[in-house]
Amino acid sequence: MDFDLTDEQRLIRDTAREFTDKEIVERARENARNHHFDLELVKKIADQGYLGAIVPREYGGAGLGYLDYGLVVEEIGRGCSSVRTVISVQTSLVCSAILKWGTEEQKQHYLPKLCSGEWLGCFGLTEPDTGSDAANQRTRATKTDEGWTINGAKMWISMGNYAKLALIFAQTDPDLDPPTRHRGLACFLVDTDQPGYQAQTIEHKMGLHASDTASISLDEVKVGPDDILGEVGDGFKVAMSALDSGRFSVAAGCVGICQGCVEESVNYAKEREQFGRPIASFQLVQAMIADMVLKTDASRMLVWRAGFLKDKGRPNTLETSVAKLHATEAAVECANTAIQVHGGAGYVDDHPVERYFRDVRVTTLYEGTSQIQKLIIGRAMTGINALVPS
Ligand SMILES: Cc1cc2nc3c(=O)[nH]c(=O)nc-3n(C[C@H](O)[C@H](O)[C@H](O)COP(=O)(O)OP(=O)(O)OC[C@H]3O[C@@H](n4cnc5c(N)ncnc54)[C@H](O)[C@@H]3O)c2cc1C
Repeated sequence: MDFDLTDEQRLIRDTAREFTDKEIVERARENARNHHFDLELVKKIADQGYLGAIVPREYGGAGLGYLDYGLVVEEIGRGCSSVRTVISVQTSLVCSAILKWGTEEQKQHYLPKLCSGEWLGCFGLTEPDTGSDAANQRTRATKTDEGWTINGAKMWISMGNYAKLALIFAQTDPDLDPPTRHRGLACFLVDTDQPGYQAQTIEHKMGLHASDTASISLDEVKVGPDDILGEVGDGFKVAMSALDSGRFSVAAGCVGICQGCVEESVNYAKEREQFGRPIASFQLVQAMIADMVLKTDASRMLVWRAGFLKDKGRPNTLETSVAKLHATEAAVECANTAIQVHGGAGYVDDHPVERYFRDVRVTTLYEGTSQIQKLIIGRAMTGINALVPS
């Protein structure tokens, strides 16, 4: 067993770290303050090759492995979770789904545009009445002579306002009974310029202020007969495989938040003096730092294990859920602890820990809540699927 990164992986990580410090950290606070979705920064990320990191070079990607990708996402996550969300959605949810399920023609058509940042993509699974129970899609796709017509609504869709391509999950057979309804799902490739596609910004979020989150309405939206990923009936599998990649990315981003909490807290504790000496000299402050280091290291190891398995092409749904569950919960706790180390100074956005605290909260919710991760882990261990609807 070898815990060492290769020289190339070190270079990938150091480059991402430098890029994050130079391009992202500086802008993160202002973008969050102004609720600004920073398209200029998205372009720079694309130019770095981070929007298609795991996509093979022949389709315009950077051709990195998952462990490499995790190293990049950790650094970006340390800088800004809103930016990390762009990478996670574009790379893990949209590109990975097209890569795994697309025809050669679809891959050649979509992937270069997504990797270069010419187009943004979004992943439309969640609906107003359908969250954790993802198989229960209310959005309907009806077969027509020309292709399909889609009607419905999506909720909480990252980049829904900016995407040119939307992966829209819809039910093609509303007569299916609950236990089998996933068999009617399909994933449609929707051009958002189509009449009937409308996105609206969801305002007043707790965090991720520099990330676009939208509700989407689909009113008689037309798609061609071939604008489907996989076959009709594959939609649920498309969604779950994309989430396996997305959860990895969220987990890696959370390792970055944990690491950021450690670094910010150590720096602050060494500078801040109380009782005539740096607060870093107090054992109770050191204990808080030690707690964060523990959580950071454990999360990173779990993320690396999941990345390692993905790179080997071995089953990893269980390990990815373990990494996502642990890293997201750890990051929530680290952000809370980091504010404690900062005292009152942690309560304003002069220090990144304030933003970490607000931004991290969503990570135990999206791409499968912590409860859903536990059910996936429980299913893998017991063989009993608690997620089957009654
Ligand atoms: C900022 C943001 C961005 C997002 N981006 C996207 C996106 O790009 N694309 C997309 O499709 N979605 C996106 N989402 C949606 C996200 O994935 C959902 O919010 C998430 O899946 C949970 O669904 P829900 O909010 O409907 O909660 P619910 O499913 O209603 O869950 C509510 C609570 O009940 C619990 N619960 C539900 N079922 C069970 C069960 N069987 N056993 C135990 N507990 C259970 C949950 O764990 C949770 O605690 C985003 C959400 C946010 C907030």
